[in-house]
Amino acid sequence: MSEKPATRLFVESDLAEGAVVGLSPDHAHFLRSVLRLEPGRWVTLFNGRDGEWSARIDGIGKGWASLAVGDHLRTQTSCPDVWLYFAPIKRARLDFLVQKATELGVRRIQPVVTQRTIVERVKGDRLSANVTEAAEQCERLDLPEICEPVRLDRALADHPEGRTLVACVEFGDARPIAEVVSELPPGAPVTLLVGPEGGFTPEERALLENRTNARFAGLGPRILRAETAGLAALTVWQALAGDWAESPPKRA
Ligand code: SAM
Repeated sequence: MSEKPATRLFVESDLAEGAVVGLSPDHAHFLRSVLRLEPGRWVTLFNGRDGEWSARIDGIGKGWASLAVGDHLRTQTSCPDVWLYFAPIKRARLDFLVQKATELGVRRIQPVVTQRTIVERVKGDRLSANVTEAAEQCERLDLPEICEPVRLDRALADHPEGRTLVACVEFGDARPIAEVVSELPPGAPVTLLVGPEGGFTPEERALLENRTNARFAGLGPRILRAETAGLAALTVWQALAGDWAESPPKRA
């Protein structure tokens, strides 16, 4: 196999040279009926643990496919330790947020229910499908962790002391996010928090102000939609303190 296969799939199976991997019915359908791939063709597999491998299609049929794992293409790495806490938003915008956050290298996605959160139910399997597809496309080797929604006070109470919490707030003495992020040690674990469409309530602001490891960051003079704010904060962090000094994976 000369070039790295373009089709890239996330699988749960262990990956090692010579291993045989059975695909899910959805993945088998995608290869067989959408891409019309036949036995002998190669794809790229990753599982979030064993790095990235090439794999040859040995057999494929309606709802099934069997692949033989070949070359080890990339060793396992994880995206930098950046978490995104955000107040759930409506479905299409939520899909967009988690897909783009995955591409931007978020490591943990934590919906946080605030007093003005409109949406409380978040469908985990839908988030998971969005995240997996985005990870396959952007060629990251790990999947972001998707957490169950929690209330803001609980999320703050459980927030690890060692992590800096950067709360994006459009009020008070928030400093420009570039300034706040530039002060953080490169790669230090950080949590970015954005509020709901209606913003944080005064009680929630007080809760945040009482957090010793919380820093308030501004995202400029305009009021951004929650998904825009979350993605903008992630972008700034990646550019200044994350892994954007690295280049994308070379194609073989
Ligand atoms: N209170 C406004 C409202 O009622 O629409 C703003 C809410 S805004 C749509 C949602 C969240 O995005 C805010 O809670 C904040 O976390 C973040 N955000 C939006 N614009 C921002 C800005 N210019 N600076 C910092 N954070 C911002």
